[in-house]
Amino acid sequence: MSSSAPVSSELFARAQRLIPGGVNSPVRAFRSVGGAPFFTRSARGATLTTADGRELIDFVCTWGPAIHGHNHPAIKAAIAAALEEGTSFGTPNPREVEMAELIVSFFPSIQKVRMCSSGTEATMSAIRLARGFTGRDKIIKFAGCYHGHSDALLVSAGSGALTHGHPDSAGVPAAFARETVVLPFNDPVALDAAFAANPGQIAAVILEPYIGNVGFIPAAPGYLKHVRATTAREGAVLIFDEVMTGFRLARGGVQELEGIVPDLTCLGKIIGGGLPVGAFGGRAEIMDKLAPLGPVYQAGTLSGNPLALAAGIAQLRLLDELQPYARLDALGRQLCAAAANAARVKGLPLQTPQKGSMFSLFFNENPVVDMATALASDAKLFGRFFHACLDGGVYLPPSAYEAWFLSTAHEGDAIDRACEVVAKAIHAL
Ligand SMILES: *Cc1c(COP(=O)(O)O)cnc(C)c1O
Repeated sequence: MSSSAPVSSELFARAQRLIPGGVNSPVRAFRSVGGAPFFTRSARGATLTTADGRELIDFVCTWGPAIHGHNHPAIKAAIAAALEEGTSFGTPNPREVEMAELIVSFFPSIQKVRMCSSGTEATMSAIRLARGFTGRDKIIKFAGCYHGHSDALLVSAGSGALTHGHPDSAGVPAAFARETVVLPFNDPVALDAAFAANPGQIAAVILEPYIGNVGFIPAAPGYLKHVRATTAREGAVLIFDEVMTGFRLARGGVQELEGIVPDLTCLGKIIGGGLPVGAFGGRAEIMDKLAPLGPVYQAGTLSGNPLALAAGIAQLRLLDELQPYARLDALGRQLCAAAANAARVKGLPLQTPQKGSMFSLFFNENPVVDMATALASDAKLFGRFFHACLDGGVYLPPSAYEAWFLSTAHEGDAIDRACEVVAKAIHAL
């Protein structure tokens, strides 16, 4: 780095003049933990190098995609090879076929799949498809589940205790939000009541099968089975949004772990290997309603982009080569145990829900099972904890209501050092 390269504070000042809030995605602005964000100049393995020349152990992993760590040589090589052939063709290309075959081999519930460029597009399109397939308008979502920023889904999406059908964002028409019924997660009785109150009107139930967007909250035993049985009985399309959990908690996502077959699945994040990719797929009978076969329109100039798919294909092939899931789970348990021990010594209440490479640390007396219990956590304390960790060289999600992500690159030195920093930060609270 040259000595004249701008530092984070200067970059943030310039950014704030031209980019709303100085960021291109809100949580990056550190609003919920206070202070100003750092800028990242480069990333490799488990480490971010900031514009200020600091090296940080990264537990955000670009919000999930970097399951093999940053800038993995095999993914870099795949992108470089694809680059030689061209960046976008606007015609079908061979990598689209290869990717579709890979996805159905990872997710047996997916018979047909359509590629797009983000998780938001995947969920938005899956909802439209479910409505087109059923001829119904209403959807059910769950408080705290985030499904991207499209109008119908930006309701009670992991920020703020909101009541039934109120938009989370200005600019979302109340009429759109009224088509969205919001329920508490992990509550089978609430689901039954919603179907009873809207007979024959629910097109789809969409959920993160394990929530990752109000912190990490796994489904209670038996809950997803109940959701599957209820949607099947009521003729509603069950959509698993596995944009975060797909390929991460198991090769075939939460649906593999829990033995559930959803009708549609949304994918993103890991599937792009660090480039912008999304996908949605499922039962052929439903997917065949998409244009050009059927009446539900969905399209994308850069969908199936060869460069992005090259990165994603390399990332998925690495998963099969490395079989990382047991190793990642051991890392998650190690870090959560270090935090829990430190909290016990300090006398602080701490919940550490964890599965594989996802977990959260909630400063909370009670188990966190849904958005309401997540929001009862001590966010102020979390902000101090966050900054103590950052001072110690560990970057974790800059919000009390986000999941931490692990990668295979955290094995060894990085996880050991992070455990020390986290324990020290808790002692100092
Ligand atoms: C990140 C995320 C999305 C949105 O994906 P983008 O690529 O950011 O549009 C949707 N659903 C879930 C569960 C996510 O975690």
